[in-house]
Amino acid sequence: MSDTPGASRPSVRSTVHGYPRIGPHRELKRASESYWKGGTTADELDGVAADLRRGVYAQLREAGVDDIPSNTFSYYDHVLDTAVLFDLVPSRFTSPAAAGDRDEELRRYFALARGEQGAPPLEMTKWFDTNYHYLVPELSPSTRPRLVGDKPVAEFREASEAGFRTRPVLVGPLTFLLLAKAADDAPEGWSPVELLDQLLDAYAQLLADLAAAGATEVQLDEPILATDEGRAAVGLLERSYQRLGALTERPSLLVSTYFGSIGAAALRVLKDSPVEAVGLDLVTGGEGIDDLVKVSGLGGTRLVAGVVDGRNVWRTDIPAAVATLGTLLALTDELTVSTSCSLLHVPIDLDAETSLAPELREALAFAKQKAEETALLGRVLSEGAEAEYAGGGAGGNPAFTDARVRARLDALGPDAYERPQDRGTPADTPLTTTTIGSFPQTGELRRARAAHRRGELAEDAYKQILREEIDRVIALQEEIGLDVLVHGEPERNDMVQYFAEQLEGYATTENGWVQSYGSRCVRPPILFGDVSRPEPMTVEWITYAQSRTDKPVKGMLTGPVTMLAWSFVRTDQPLGETARQVGLALRDEVADLERAGIRHIQVDEAALRELLPLREEQRGAYLDWAVNSFRLATSGVSPSTTIHTHMCYSEFGLIVGGIEALDADVTSVEAARSRMELVEDLGRRGYKRGIGPGVYDIHSPRVPSVEEIEGSLRLAAAHIDAGNLWVNPDCGLKTRGYAEAEQALRNMVEAARRVRADL
Ligand code: GLN
Ligand code: ZN
Repeated sequence: MSDTPGASRPSVRSTVHGYPRIGPHRELKRASESYWKGGTTADELDGVAADLRRGVYAQLREAGVDDIPSNTFSYYDHVLDTAVLFDLVPSRFTSPAAAGDRDEELRRYFALARGEQGAPPLEMTKWFDTNYHYLVPELSPSTRPRLVGDKPVAEFREASEAGFRTRPVLVGPLTFLLLAKAADDAPEGWSPVELLDQLLDAYAQLLADLAAAGATEVQLDEPILATDEGRAAVGLLERSYQRLGALTERPSLLVSTYFGSIGAAALRVLKDSPVEAVGLDLVTGGEGIDDLVKVSGLGGTRLVAGVVDGRNVWRTDIPAAVATLGTLLALTDELTVSTSCSLLHVPIDLDAETSLAPELREALAFAKQKAEETALLGRVLSEGAEAEYAGGGAGGNPAFTDARVRARLDALGPDAYERPQDRGTPADTPLTTTTIGSFPQTGELRRARAAHRRGELAEDAYKQILREEIDRVIALQEEIGLDVLVHGEPERNDMVQYFAEQLEGYATTENGWVQSYGSRCVRPPILFGDVSRPEPMTVEWITYAQSRTDKPVKGMLTGPVTMLAWSFVRTDQPLGETARQVGLALRDEVADLERAGIRHIQVDEAALRELLPLREEQRGAYLDWAVNSFRLATSGVSPSTTIHTHMCYSEFGLIVGGIEALDADVTSVEAARSRMELVEDLGRRGYKRGIGPGVYDIHSPRVPSVEEIEGSLRLAAAHIDAGNLWVNPDCGLKTRGYAEAEQALRNMVEAARRVRADL
């Protein structure tokens, strides 16, 4: 504890919670995909990984960060790494044939993530409210946690040998168990947290090993504390950290939390426990300081203050952050400046972008720049390095405003958000068949798009290829006998990027890749200013498709919430306001489609569930603006135009009311894997609009039989009026091949015909 108040500047260190693993040129993606195909040896893959780790340490040191984390690298996912480390692997995955056989180890590791013959993979789901996905551990009462791996120790040693004293980062035991699920064979009511004491023993062993290897500090991540579920588990939190804190052979412990504030109760537990440091997210939600005040500061427990936003791309307002840190210094004896969470969620290096507008670029910071900001803040506090940022501007995203957009929004009355309630049901046949939008994206199509992008394929030739693809997709759907057709989305690289490229207020990056899951990376666009639509975005393609058939073709757009969820979004105004601007731009597109004779228009809200706040008390306000922006986009149409929406998940418990409030005529959802639960729920609630519970799982190459689909439809028809029941797959078909997609759709149409015949 410091006992010389005012004598000198405080000693403030800097750190980050974690760093992107994929490499500046997505080296990890290339290496692992090549390994999966048999094109790279295990040695080569391990070599790439070791180089990437060393590169990260070096980059952080060069940025001036004092305390460098390790074990933030992963071949696929850090939750999976934790499961493997503690032997928490379901028995369907066979153990490596021989200990130490690297190929066998990797085979099993990747099988857990990707599945192998006879062993479906672990379930994958979103990491809190980010776009990163983790693998869900499956535990049961017979599971015996024990330390069987040494990844954190090995990576610590490797870093030490390269000259970096690091702080190993681990998923905390509470977060791990609360994110895990009970295996199918676990008894009803059993929960993974029942394994807590055994798991703590295994962590104790690991901490002893790390101490023996020379680690002086370890970070245990407990982001679960930002959720209601985690906040309710303070008793388990206390048990965990009293126990780990009481160990005699251990490094000092930093318990880190992020993605929101943790509340005074959890903070008090951590303060009163023997852990040496607590990490708080002081960016998200803004209640972190209140919590600190409520517990009268941390006293001798060091505060790792997450003041640099780890999940968005805006530069930090350094003077404001310095002021915040000044306040924090009164609430703790020892302070480390940090990012709000791991930098895993942002692109690596702004310097790799060459074509961003200078005013926008000025406002941005990616992982490397954020590490530099964190280091700068440390220096400003401990050395008075104010001169380093003097005159550098305030940072944060400047307001890129467009007066026309604001005036239009201000002029809207409440009727802009309402459709007539008595508009009737849209389908004239019961069990109308349709699809979700995309058809398989063939290699030819991808190659043509890439060539066009590089300027090697002329606009006309490219468009001709797209038109031919649309011709094929329309002809195929007619031949299969679908009722409401789609154009197949061949012109789209991605459902968000395609629109972002055409909207004002949005920028796209060249190299801004972020890991989504495993080797899969996305390049989220940046929504930096007021959004508007200079010209129609989809009308050309939809009307072309409609000109090739007498059946209705659905217009296909991405909704406001999804446009926000899969982008980096400005923070200078409430999200709801930004969503409203996107809604208005889409409303223009919807009007143009309708004017061009399109009678069915789908506005996808694949991410509605995903942006749902982690804590219940914030959900009502979220659903209000989410629903509003969708309704703004869709309620300008005549009562006879059918508005569709689509959502990509099956857990609707939390947003069933939201679905009703969207007031779409037809909502298609994922339901195949949850046995139509949602349909039952909606039936009970007397839902009066159309619903298309996905009748088969497009995430798998398996072709469902007619009987299977028929079974699902009959189940759905028991709860929903046949006139309101739509028949469609779970999601778009773009990741499937034509052979399986075609057969599955034929079976779907046949199943619908059989069920209709019995009505
Ligand atoms: N219309 C999009 C498609 O069919 C929807 C994708 C999604 O829901 N993720 O691909
Ligand atoms: Zn979907």
